[in-house]
Amino acid sequence: MKTFEEMGLNNELVSALKRQGITSPTEVQEKTIPLMLSGKDVIVRSKTGSGKTLAFLVPILNRDYSGQRSTVLILAPTRELALQISTVASRIKPSDCWIATVYGGASINVQMNILAKSPRLIVGTPGRIIDLIRRNSLRPRAISTVVIDEADTMLDMGFIDDVEYILSETSPERHTVLLSATIPEKIVKMSQNYMKGPTLLSIGDEDEVTVREIRHSYFIADGSRKLEALLSYIEAYNPKKSIIFLRTKHEANLIHNFLRKEGYDAMLMHGGLTQSKREHSLRNFRKDVRFLIATNVAARGLDVDDITDIINFDIPDDPLVYVHRVGRSARMGKEGKAFSIVGYKQRSMIDDIKYIANVEMRQISLDTGRYGGAVARFLAESRGSHGRNAHEFKRQGFGGRKNYHGERERFNGHRRNQGRSNRRHSSNRNGNQGRF
Ligand code: ADP
Ligand code: MG
Repeated sequence: MKTFEEMGLNNELVSALKRQGITSPTEVQEKTIPLMLSGKDVIVRSKTGSGKTLAFLVPILNRDYSGQRSTVLILAPTRELALQISTVASRIKPSDCWIATVYGGASINVQMNILAKSPRLIVGTPGRIIDLIRRNSLRPRAISTVVIDEADTMLDMGFIDDVEYILSETSPERHTVLLSATIPEKIVKMSQNYMKGPTLLSIGDEDEVTVREIRHSYFIADGSRKLEALLSYIEAYNPKKSIIFLRTKHEANLIHNFLRKEGYDAMLMHGGLTQSKREHSLRNFRKDVRFLIATNVAARGLDVDDITDIINFDIPDDPLVYVHRVGRSARMGKEGKAFSIVGYKQRSMIDDIKYIANVEMRQISLDTGRYGGAVARFLAESRGSHGRNAHEFKRQGFGGRKNYHGERERFNGHRRNQGRSNRRHSSNRNGNQGRF
């Protein structure tokens, strides 16, 4: 294995990495860095938690920024991921490299002021970037490198119009890099439209889309028994730090209330909250809060230390969503557990996930009966305070599919451009499986 020095990186960058405890490259870094340094377009597939962020940031930050005019753009699907990437970059960047982080839900004027200082690196989400281009605050022709993190979701229906627009505005000479843990064949084909003879870099075993250190289990339950199953799992397995994923904001709110009532320390993160509340929740979860109750807004890219358990209150109906959710744990060789509650009608998902994610899933038994009282009390109380919710919950068995597509529309905040937004709505209705 080559060291960072042997890759010809400059001394300041190597020292900055060392100060962050990064002393030798991971496999994806060892292979991606030289390719990016030589200016080649690359598509990188490497499992969750394997170090893809530094694989693209190191070659970008290795440049000599003095006297340069060109800009690097990094695109991410969620605001929190954009923020995380720019935080990692700011810890190792040279002092003369300005970074702008631009995303919706935060003051556009502040972001315009930062862009006026000609940052060399811009990290952001597509919607806000388009707003800034339209306001002539961000000059896309100066963008000479575009990195698309979580590329498969960025080139999927919910984002593709925005991403194509941004790419079409940047320099035609640009250098383009795509990364994800999952790169379906379709993405490789599509990439021909945006890239120049890209190298396809696939790290590790093709079958190994998710980390081997994760143990997967499930329990079959419907309706209010799902709440009982959740409590039983928490009591029996005692997760130290866990994300509980829900399909909709509405369900996330309910579960958040439920766990708080049961005395658990839990924070909430979904697209219906203000941006500052979302960031507050994630910051506290990173610090010492035990549970993060989230929609798929937290499924991609987030790197939080020492998550022990991923809990799917509903097993996702897209195996790729499963892979990315569970990939929030067991990062960099650590161990993790993934537990899913599976509705009676969702049982076929178990085989789909086993096959596509290439994992073993074990059915576990839980003593759900013990928690019947607590659940009944909660449902009765919530009927008083927000009756409709609890009633719906009981009647539909929680986790009905009807809101699933809508969540993705809203999770990144409000849309601004009606024309594009309408197109997006219609494509979402046309059978998009709602990765987010
Ligand atoms: P991915 O994007 O592949 O899911 P990340 O880039 O988020 O993974 O990295 C996962 C974790 O690994 C981060 O906490 C990061 O600090 C750590 N990490 C990355 N590269 C190295 C390295 N060379 N040595 C040690 N830790 C690393
Ligand atoms: Mg990543």
